[in-house]
Amino acid sequence: MLFSKIMVPYDGSEHAKSALEYAKSLAEALPDARLDVVHAIPSGVMGLDELGTHGSLDGVPLGMTEYAQYSGVVQPVLDQAREKVVANLGGALEALGDRAEVHVVAGTSTVAALLRHAQTSGCDLIVMGRRGLGAIRGMIGSVSYGILHGTDVPVLTVK
Ligand code: ATP
Ligand code: MG
Repeated sequence: MLFSKIMVPYDGSEHAKSALEYAKSLAEALPDARLDVVHAIPSGVMGLDELGTHGSLDGVPLGMTEYAQYSGVVQPVLDQAREKVVANLGGALEALGDRAEVHVVAGTSTVAALLRHAQTSGCDLIVMGRRGLGAIRGMIGSVSYGILHGTDVPVLTVK
C-alpha cells in the first residue's frame, strides 16, 4: 500500500502545524496508514547518542558504567519533553485514535535524530514544514534541508 507510515517532524511551528494537517488528511483518506509525530532534541546538551558514547564500552556513555544508569538519566528528559509535545498538540490527533503516535527522539543533531527515526520506523512518507521556529532567512530551514538531503524517503514540504 502506498503510504502505510507517515512521519511528521514536529517543532510546534505554524509550518509544522500545517504539515500535520496535510498528513492527517492523508491518513484519514488511507484507513490503514499510521502517523508518527516526531519531535527531536539535539543531544549535545544531554550527552546522548553517538557523541556521548563514542569510544566507550557497549554504548555506555563515558562517566556511566551501567546502561540502566544512562537511560535513567536520559529517559525522564525525553518523557518530560513528550508531555510538552502532547500538550502542544492538544486534540489534534484524536480523530486518528491509535493510528497516531507521538515520539520524542534525541540524536547528535535534530536532523540525525529525525533521520534515524525515519529509518527505524520504516516510514514511507515524510511530511514536514518548509520553515520552523528559527529566524526567517531563505526559503527552507536547515532541518528540512537536512532531511531532504539525507533520506530517500519521499518528503512533502508544507508552508
Ligand atoms: P533553522 O532551524 O534552520 O533556523 P527554521 O526553524 O525556519 O530554520 P527548520 O528548523 O528547518 O526551519 O524547520 C522546518 C521543519 O522541520 C519544521 O516545520 C518541522 O516540520 C521540522 N522541525 C524543525 N525542528 C524540529 C525538531 N526539533 N523536531 C522535529 N521536527 C523539527
Ligand atoms: Mg528550526
